[in-house]
Amino acid sequence: MSLCEVDGRTVRQPHTAETDVVIVGSGPAGAVVARHLSERGIPVIVVEEGHPAPPQSFSESGLQAMASLYRDMGTSIAFGNLSMPYLQGRVVGGTSVINGAICWKFPREVWEEWVSNDRTLADALPFESISKAEAQIEKRLNIHSTTENVAGRKNLLLGQGAETLGVQHRPIARNVSGCVGEGRCLQGCPHGHKLSMDRSYLPDAVERGGRIWSGMRVDRVVIDHGRARGVVGRTAAGAPFQIRARRAVVLAASAIQTPVLLRRSGVTQGPVGDNLCAHPGVSVTGLFKESVVAWRGATQGHEVIGYRSEGIKLEALGFDLSILASRVPGVGSAFAKRLANLDKYAVWGAALRAKAKGRVRPGVSRPWVTYSLTPGDIEKARRAVRILADLFLAAGALEVYPSIAGFHPTIRTPSEAASIESEASLNPSAYSMSMTHLFGTAKMGSDPQTSVVRPTFETHQTKSLFVADSSVFPDNLGVNPQVPIMALADLCAASLVNVEGR
Ligand SMILES: Cc1cc2nc3c(=O)[nH]c(=O)nc-3n(C[C@H](O)[C@H](O)[C@H](O)COP(=O)(O)OP(=O)(O)OC[C@H]3O[C@@H](n4cnc5c(N)ncnc54)[C@H](O)[C@@H]3O)c2cc1C
Ligand code: SF4
Repeated sequence: MSLCEVDGRTVRQPHTAETDVVIVGSGPAGAVVARHLSERGIPVIVVEEGHPAPPQSFSESGLQAMASLYRDMGTSIAFGNLSMPYLQGRVVGGTSVINGAICWKFPREVWEEWVSNDRTLADALPFESISKAEAQIEKRLNIHSTTENVAGRKNLLLGQGAETLGVQHRPIARNVSGCVGEGRCLQGCPHGHKLSMDRSYLPDAVERGGRIWSGMRVDRVVIDHGRARGVVGRTAAGAPFQIRARRAVVLAASAIQTPVLLRRSGVTQGPVGDNLCAHPGVSVTGLFKESVVAWRGATQGHEVIGYRSEGIKLEALGFDLSILASRVPGVGSAFAKRLANLDKYAVWGAALRAKAKGRVRPGVSRPWVTYSLTPGDIEKARRAVRILADLFLAAGALEVYPSIAGFHPTIRTPSEAASIESEASLNPSAYSMSMTHLFGTAKMGSDPQTSVVRPTFETHQTKSLFVADSSVFPDNLGVNPQVPIMALADLCAASLVNVEGR
């Protein structure tokens, strides 16, 4: 059975429909809401701008994957004291199709931070309800620790380095079934072993009567007398469409696209599009004596968690050859020599729980995103590079490339690694960073002046308009967010059933 009822690439005439609930976006947030409501017999249509992409269509090439599965071909940029790409999927299943499959539960200490700032959140998001939702997600997505037989050397070496340094580390828990360590999660798993939304929650929703429309971009929510009545937009073939919603509209279009849709629809009360929080990432490359073959083995199979209290989480990374080659320094014959040894390199990265707060506004052809790291964030980035260098050297790397402009391109000893923290630049533009975890642009709270959605996930300004994605998070998490996003989306769906049934 085809997952999508309507493919916008073939819709050339104006198209209209009616349902109970329209859900914008088919990533982890939208897919969970779709399944939850379908299970209760509530008619839903999920509208997704991206197209369906079956496993056999996935390319090994990182560039081709970016062209077909990533928004703006991976060139979406946040402007600030350092121009930083932020990556997102644009495909049926959302970013889950191209993510690293890393699964983390909602950290209790982050929840405590949130509720200590606004006590009403403690009643709206009881930790026990989040944990209950996560337990169901864990079961459905077959979340389990990466086993040694599929980890591959790049992951095992990270574990060895951490063990030598005496730092807490562990195999990563992932949402995969039958993974053979092909290392292509970021290009889409060619065997369908990653249980992304298109292979789990979306088919579940369709089996229960849910409908998915792909290749349809929503331009705005239709609001009448202070109540959301549906959405309008354009199909990939250029025709206008309209879907009327008898009960509610749910935005699950991501922390970048959701605030844009809110503003385009006239929902501007509160900090709509402000408070953009993220986990900017740095990465470091190391050269080993023996072959590592970093493009094989679980894409991301091992993590170092001993620095989480500092807001630094470290992971092995897995890229295709072209992207791996771009992480190796040098020019001319020296570079050619290094390329001949490409199998001996590994790249490990760190996600930072940054304090920076950015902004999202509708732009001419794409959202206008600004985000500047704080001085403390830059120090954290520099420290993370030093830790990564220590880990590489402890794992036996011969050379490490910290990739900080103006700093030694190659380091070989622990004392050189230590000098990163004392000598490397604190100028943001000395670092090449990117963001993959985004939050906070329609934050939840009880005060309509300082928040956008109520603790019920319904916007303060507009009745029957709900936000289910990580836009509602008041702050970042410090861990990989897909499972916490899904858990909160489940609470959003439950709340919608209550509120709309009033
Ligand atoms: C390369 C990469 C690796 C990652 N690895 C991990 C990982 O290993 N573990 C983890 O926990 N997290 C990971 N993440 C982050 C995680 O995947 C995201 O946080 C999560 O997918 C966000 O879920 P979402 O539903 O809010 O948004 P998304 O998954 O981004 O889905 C939103 C969907 O809405 C659609 N949409 C947007 N605007 C419109 C519109 N106007 N009309 C119609 N449709 C629209 C988009 O096309 C998209 O498909 C990674 C992210 C990236 C980029
Ligand atoms: S590591 Fe490979 S086989 Fe395993 S889920 Fe990712 S792409 Fe699929």
